[in-house]
Amino acid sequence: MEFSLSKEQKLIQKIAGEFAQKYVEPIAEKIDKENIIPEEIINTLGELGLLGIPFAEEYGGSGAGYQSYVLALEQIAKCSAGVGVTIGASTLGLGAIDKFGTEEQKQKYMPPVCRGEQLASFAFTEPGTGSDPKQIQSTAQKDGEHYILNGTKRFITNGSYHGPIIIFARDTEVNNISAFIVDKFCEGYSASEPWKKLSARGGKLVDVYLDNVRVPEKNLLGERGQGFPILLASIALGKIGTSTCALGDTLAAFEEAVKYSREKLHREQPIARFQAIQLKIADLAIKYETARWICYRLGYLADTMKDKTQFAKEAALVKSYLGDNAVQAARIALEIHGSYGLMEDYKVSRIYKDAILGSQIEGVSDMQKLIVAGNILK
Ligand SMILES: Cc1cc2nc3c(=O)[nH]c(=O)nc-3n(C[C@H](O)[C@H](O)[C@H](O)COP(=O)(O)OP(=O)(O)OC[C@H]3O[C@@H](n4cnc5c(N)ncnc54)[C@H](O)[C@@H]3O)c2cc1C
Repeated sequence: MEFSLSKEQKLIQKIAGEFAQKYVEPIAEKIDKENIIPEEIINTLGELGLLGIPFAEEYGGSGAGYQSYVLALEQIAKCSAGVGVTIGASTLGLGAIDKFGTEEQKQKYMPPVCRGEQLASFAFTEPGTGSDPKQIQSTAQKDGEHYILNGTKRFITNGSYHGPIIIFARDTEVNNISAFIVDKFCEGYSASEPWKKLSARGGKLVDVYLDNVRVPEKNLLGERGQGFPILLASIALGKIGTSTCALGDTLAAFEEAVKYSREKLHREQPIARFQAIQLKIADLAIKYETARWICYRLGYLADTMKDKTQFAKEAALVKSYLGDNAVQAARIALEIHGSYGLMEDYKVSRIYKDAILGSQIEGVSDMQKLIVAGNILK
């Protein structure tokens, strides 16, 4: 068992940490207020290789695996959940192409995203289904060497940035779900105005409308009718991103709580001298340390584990734990701030809003627990 980071991992963690402190932290409040991430941030992420960390260099990635991805994303998500979720969703879309795409698809779609010129998306949620994607209503109708896609996808991160989007739709002929790589803003593709969401603001969340979108057969991702297993395997990898964003929130909550308890004075003494505050700080340290190590381990498992079903169970377990843990950590940090924690002027109020996200997306926490239990009791 090895708990120390390699030289390369330390370097990626450092690059991401310095980037986040220099470029993201100073504007994190503005990103939250205005619900926009400046384009330069996306471009710089690409220049630094932070949009393709897990993927091979031949496809524009850094070739550093999911372990390094976790280390880097934690540092960025700690400063801005909106930027973290944007990276996580793009990596989820690229991860699907990386795992199931043909050589041609990888060469075409991965490098521009890794360079920060585009962002990828992954679309399974619809107005009628989120946790249960077997109910997908969007359709794919075969028409010669093309498929015609129709339907609405709900809550799609990065859906209004140029780049590839993975669309899951029901193939009307084989009555099964297939996955397609679609170029966003091709004919028939449109997106709503961004949702005004509570958490991870800045990351653009839109509904996507598919109106007779013509997709060439060569853009089928994986086998025809095999969309559901592709969805499950890809989203298991996607949970690394969501879990890591929750880890970033937990770290932010811990750091803000420590800082405030040292600064806030009662009778000229910092509140850190109160035993009640000390107990809360210890709870936060426990929450961060447990979250950190199971999340780093998930990155390791993604790089090394062969059994996809087992990995899906591990990813569900970690996401469920980290999502709920982040909410608890943010709550403790808020309590340490007293009434000040409820004021928008204090970072902890933003951390509290952001923390709720992890347990609500990519299948809510209860659904993750059902996956875990189903795997254990099978
Ligand atoms: C910021 C953000 C980003 C997102 N990004 C994306 C994206 O990029 N791509 C994408 O496709 N989606 C995205 N989503 C959507 C998100 O993944 C789904 O909304 C989520 O999976 C939950 O689905 P739902 O909202 O339809 O909830 P529902 O499935 O309607 O669940 C509602 C409640 O019912 C419970 N429930 C549902 N089914 C069962 C069951 N069988 N047994 C027991 N309880 C059940 C759930 O636990 C939950 O409490 C995003 C959402 C947000 C907020």
